[in-house]
Amino acid sequence: MGDITHETIKDGWFREISDLWPGQAMTLKVKKVLHHEKSKYQDVLIFESETYGTVLVLDGAIQVTERDEFSYQEMIAHLAMNSHPNPKKVLVIGGGDGGVLREVVKHECVEEATLCDIDEAVIRLSKQYLPQMAGVYENPKVKVHIGDGFKFLDDYKNEFDVIITDSSDPDGPAASLFQKSYFELLNGALREGGVITTQAENQWIHMHIISQLKKDCKEVFPVAEWAYTTIPTYPGGQIGFMVCCKDANRNVKVPLRSWSPEEEVKLCKYYNAEIHKASFVLPTFARLALQ
Ligand code: SAM
Repeated sequence: MGDITHETIKDGWFREISDLWPGQAMTLKVKKVLHHEKSKYQDVLIFESETYGTVLVLDGAIQVTERDEFSYQEMIAHLAMNSHPNPKKVLVIGGGDGGVLREVVKHECVEEATLCDIDEAVIRLSKQYLPQMAGVYENPKVKVHIGDGFKFLDDYKNEFDVIITDSSDPDGPAASLFQKSYFELLNGALREGGVITTQAENQWIHMHIISQLKKDCKEVFPVAEWAYTTIPTYPGGQIGFMVCCKDANRNVKVPLRSWSPEEEVKLCKYYNAEIHKASFVLPTFARLALQ
């Protein structure tokens, strides 16, 4: 287990107990605690798990595990990127681990991919412990800005083709990234025909947050849809995304661009053109709640 102790680890098991998912908790068996620090913004814990590889935890909540991160990173990135005809300039808010950027630069049309994360510690520690994601920081197309995403966006108008918000949950530094005024800033920072995706919670636990998000997005963007992916280590085993577009005639539920089947299996482990369409098909209870 190593010498580092942490309040979330008892009897060799990390426990993700939080009021954000009342009465339930994910647990992962810990092999070794690799790092713990309190950054300026959050509690950062990194451990090697028994069966999910290296795990990054912020304020007690799992952000990524090596085993299943690709499901989230590929979906949040390619749902937006493949709903745009030619994304050249891309912005990622949050996402300090680098996973979303890694997916963004798979699109050859991208000329510049900027990341704005509030916490340098996430970027620094991901470079050290999660190189399969943070290796992307070596890419010459990537630019990094350390700062609050909300404040950063305020300085940009009509600038980006795609903006992806890979935030943590809305109870810490990411709270502002779930407000309607944030979506208004996103809308203003997009060029004509621009697309956004944001992390948008779990249909089994957070329907109240999702329906508010969808309502807010609909008031800001002519197109606003909710999609979801499966991922064992996020609460409830699934996580959703808001996918919005400035162009009222765009159907984000069907990819506008796609890779050949051969390229697709080389580039992605989860995302494909069929799952792009399927991720918007909702079970009846969710469809009714979000109507
Ligand atoms: N994929 C993960 C999930 O959904 O659980 C999210 C991971 S990502 C590492 C979340 C990132 O958002 C963190 O690195 C955190 O520092 C960053 N973040 C939180 N609030 C922010 C803000 N206001 N502006 C920019 N980045 C922020």
